[in-house]
Amino acid sequence: MKKFLKILGWLLAFALVSTGVYVFKILPTKVDAGMNVVLDHKPYQISEKALKLHANMRVADLHADTLLWKRNPAKRHNHGQTDLPRFQAGSVAVQVFSTVTYVPGNMNTDANKMENDQMPLLAKVQLWPMRTWNSIYERAVFQSERLHKVERQSDGHFIIARSKSDLRAALNRRASNKDILVGVLATEGAHPLEGDITNLDKLYDAGFRMIGLQHFFDNKLGGSLHGVSKSGLTPFGKEVIAKIVDKGMMIDIAHSSIKTVEDVLALTDAPMVVSHTGILSLCNHPKRNIPDNLMQQIADRGGLIGVGFWETAVCDATPDGIAKMLIHGANKFGVEHIALGSDFDGSVTTKLDTSELAAITDALLRQGMSEGDIRKVMGENQIAYFLQHLPGE
Ligand SMILES: [Zn+2]
Repeated sequence: MKKFLKILGWLLAFALVSTGVYVFKILPTKVDAGMNVVLDHKPYQISEKALKLHANMRVADLHADTLLWKRNPAKRHNHGQTDLPRFQAGSVAVQVFSTVTYVPGNMNTDANKMENDQMPLLAKVQLWPMRTWNSIYERAVFQSERLHKVERQSDGHFIIARSKSDLRAALNRRASNKDILVGVLATEGAHPLEGDITNLDKLYDAGFRMIGLQHFFDNKLGGSLHGVSKSGLTPFGKEVIAKIVDKGMMIDIAHSSIKTVEDVLALTDAPMVVSHTGILSLCNHPKRNIPDNLMQQIADRGGLIGVGFWETAVCDATPDGIAKMLIHGANKFGVEHIALGSDFDGSVTTKLDTSELAAITDALLRQGMSEGDIRKVMGENQIAYFLQHLPGE
């Protein structure tokens, strides 16, 4: 009997450990790999000319959600779409790391309510600290802490830019070491403010420099393109915009409703970015992307349009299709206003990961864009924008 109990005890312990390993180790990787898919493809054929040009470029990207997943960004993985080794392989110099902090159930592009939040479950399975389970604000702060940990452990290869001078210094260092990546922190939706304007100061202190106003649902600032109300800025939203501008942070209107974008344009002269989007006149997905006339106004006041890499952004998500959209944007709104906005690791399916960005350079060359313009859309426009619009000197 004693022996039987001992064996039963071992079996129970084994069952508990293997359940634990499954829930907290295998399951998060499965979820990550299932949400951030790179479709199987043959290696892209890239000309010598394109390879050489790409290797000497400073690539920049306006949007990746790397920090949402358990995957350690410092190590190379064979799932998901980004990590430091793959950024280096893709010649990426500057990457915006955005923070997803609230995920409604049954998320769609039509009409989502801010309810049935999936984040507590994801936070628990990924062993995020308890403070993140029920606080949207803490989820943003925790993701900032994760990025700062990567910086501390990177041996100088990853630098978070909080100011113009940070970015200048990091890029100077990168001139002699192309493995250096610069990160800028952003929110995907300003709901981490939790309706309290003083939280903007705290997010600023945590390193956030770009504030996305909405994500998939209306929040306390105003309407989302995929929300229920399709409404504009609330009085709180107006207050937040004024303070973002005051603090020298950058505004991102990706996912905002048409009315919200119109309200922001009316409220401030500050330039803004559409960090990850498509352009309707080439790819007609109005439930995901705002109309061209608003894009034109954003470009006219010096803003940036980040072209996404997934189907509803570009309609053809191959490197050729992405290049076609970049050229379309450059022709329509001016080459200075076009940038990359991959949405890597943003629960999108893509046909390349960040290590394969040279395939876009190759496609741009084949489609006739000049080398100077390719450098601009692949990164220099974003770098120039950040050197002008990050806070400080
Ligand atoms: Zn997004």
